[in-house]
Amino acid sequence: MSLSEIMQRVAQAEAAAGRAAGSVQLIAVSKEQPEERVLPVLEAGHRVFGENRVQEAAGKWPDWQDRFGKVELHLLGPLQTNKARQAMALFDVIHSLDRPKLAQTFARLAQENGSCPQLFIQVNTGAEPQKAGILPDAADQFIAECRALDLPVIGLMCIPPVDEAPEAHFTHLAQIAGRNGLTGLSMGMSDDFETAIAHGATHIRVGSAIFGARR
Ligand SMILES: *Cc1c(COP(=O)(O)O)cnc(C)c1O
Repeated sequence: MSLSEIMQRVAQAEAAAGRAAGSVQLIAVSKEQPEERVLPVLEAGHRVFGENRVQEAAGKWPDWQDRFGKVELHLLGPLQTNKARQAMALFDVIHSLDRPKLAQTFARLAQENGSCPQLFIQVNTGAEPQKAGILPDAADQFIAECRALDLPVIGLMCIPPVDEAPEAHFTHLAQIAGRNGLTGLSMGMSDDFETAIAHGATHIRVGSAIFGARR
């Protein structure tokens, strides 16, 4: 699939869901992809990209941004507190705020820097032990804690279990967001972004469908 084909599918899914054209932001997930696959997407004018690891992103995006201009960078993967400072400098949006300690670290660094990336709180909707994210039962309280710290939380993010239909997870995430007055929903990947759009996704994270399988 090419970028333009994916953008067409996004537009169709928006229309099918009765949503405004352009209401869904397509994050092109370039993690682990070789330069020869990423450059064509930059050359095509796309300027919103996602990465999983701070170190990997720091190794390639400064150079690409020198060549192509400002790119909006989204961090999608789990973040250790000792990398928070670097992540805040590099990324415009962080989707993996998942625990009080990280929230406190962001709050302290935001004070120090006078700025903070926009944040999504990751919710472990499948309550999977190996997966990051706050448990659904703890989400309301954690959202309140983040707000008390004045963090710029714009929405919620989830990664449904691989072996389950995603619909119930997307619905659950939208419910938690709705009752907490959050409008951002980061959900939907290569295999299910159209379903996610039907369930209200505002940000979809699409990697392999744009760039091909990761090696
Ligand atoms: C890798 C990754 C994606 C993209 O996955 P694809 O299946 O390649 O579209 C999306 N979100 C997160 C959190 C990821 O780690």
